[in-house]
Amino acid sequence: GVADQAFRFDNSYARLPRRFYAETQPSPASGPRLVALNTALAREMGLALETMPAEDLAAIFSGNRLPEGALPIATAYAGHQFGGFSPQLGDGRAVLLGEVVTPDGRRLDIQLKGAGRTVFSRGGDGRAALGPVLREFLVSEAMHALGIPTTRALAATTTGDPVYRETVLQGAVLARVASSHIRIGTFQYFAARQDHEALRLLVDHALERHYPERVDAENRALALFEGVIARQAALVAEWMRVGFVHGVMNTDNMSISGETIDYGPCAFIDAYDPAARFSSIDTGSRYAFANQGAVAEWNLARLAEALLPILDADENRAVEIATTALRTFSPQFSQHMLAAMRAKLGLLASEDEDAALIRDFLRAMHQGSADFTLTFRALGRAVREGHGFAEVEALFADATGLRDWLPRYEARLSREEATAAARAERMDRANPLYIPRNHQVETALAAAAEGSFDVFNDLRDLLRHPYEEQPGREAYAAPPPSDFGNYRTFCGT
Ligand code: AMP
Ligand code: MG
Ligand code: MG
Repeated sequence: GVADQAFRFDNSYARLPRRFYAETQPSPASGPRLVALNTALAREMGLALETMPAEDLAAIFSGNRLPEGALPIATAYAGHQFGGFSPQLGDGRAVLLGEVVTPDGRRLDIQLKGAGRTVFSRGGDGRAALGPVLREFLVSEAMHALGIPTTRALAATTTGDPVYRETVLQGAVLARVASSHIRIGTFQYFAARQDHEALRLLVDHALERHYPERVDAENRALALFEGVIARQAALVAEWMRVGFVHGVMNTDNMSISGETIDYGPCAFIDAYDPAARFSSIDTGSRYAFANQGAVAEWNLARLAEALLPILDADENRAVEIATTALRTFSPQFSQHMLAAMRAKLGLLASEDEDAALIRDFLRAMHQGSADFTLTFRALGRAVREGHGFAEVEALFADATGLRDWLPRYEARLSREEATAAARAERMDRANPLYIPRNHQVETALAAAAEGSFDVFNDLRDLLRHPYEEQPGREAYAAPPPSDFGNYRTFCGT
């Protein structure tokens, strides 16, 4: 039928040996209904979905009907969760339908998250609830619009079946798109089994897929490791640029492709706080906002350990190679952070004192409980208009630190050659006006649970253009009301 011709699958991961995955049929949904469809992404992927009846879309994206060429599998992986190693995690509530090759030659996974139990489910039900599915939809698409590498959301369907958590919730499935679902934990899975042949095959597969420019490297494992280091250093700095807290940076949630993956307990900061953490289970603040660079480096050290047996036949030499590569993470990350923060402050030139200027501005924001997003945006307006910084000051509950800092900033700006307009324009491209604010996401999800998708759709539409002023929608830029309190997020719901 029409549905069968819409997908051009080429399932390269399923061609790897059987110990990489388990063939898994999605569990049936009793009353699937399509609640969100990403037609722009579908078009990018070369999928002709617009002409397909909603029932067909619901059947496909809930897992009830397999399009021709799909080969559903649950992939095997391990991982360090909050520092403790689990040798077997795997897709416990997701099946990879297959890989489609886009008209412009990109290979993309389509995964159904929440499609039922797999051999990796352990005690879990393999299901997902509507709220978290819509949350991932909104936030991952917002990240994409912010210009940050991420998995995407293609469709969301409700299943018609209940999901039992603390309360009874509506079940849902997210059709997630990623350039692959290979994680640090995938390498750890085979390393833990001393399966060096599988490690080599996985390096080859990941290198060809994500770092094709490096396939001719003499040491392929090293080439892959260096590639992942570079992409993760850039990625985490991008999170910091927009105030994103991933919340569950376990090694199974860190993608080899350099995309943000696993939107469980993530959240954006409102008032600037380097210690911000939202996840209810991250009680040690391991994954707090300002720790994310150090955590990425820790995770990359775990990837290095997994790769050791194939980095060099000589163990000491392998350790030396891995250590030398890993040492480049911190300077790369610092460079990306400095560049991002310079852009946010409108500094187009580089001066040695910039790092101190940035540090002290962040300290002043913390001291003043200033909203991270609004402050940078107001700073851009002040630079453009040149009437002083009253509007910025008004965002600070305590502006003493800011008042000490502003003369240094003005002196620094006066040494810039670019025009104020050029600087402000650069700032507006680094400083979003709209982010998925936690209180607004919660409002959208609460309405959706009652069957009304208007707020969800409006927020989704707004977040397509996070850097542009959207007249009439100013309320979406506002910080949470004071009674919103300490926001907490939850994993695995
Ligand atoms: P996450 O916290 O999302 O990274 O998930 C960690 C592990 O738990 C992965 O192996 C998931 O597949 C598994 N998992 C999470 N939720 C469920 C669930 N409801 N049923 C089965 N497995 C799950
Ligand atoms: Mg995960
Ligand atoms: Mg998750």
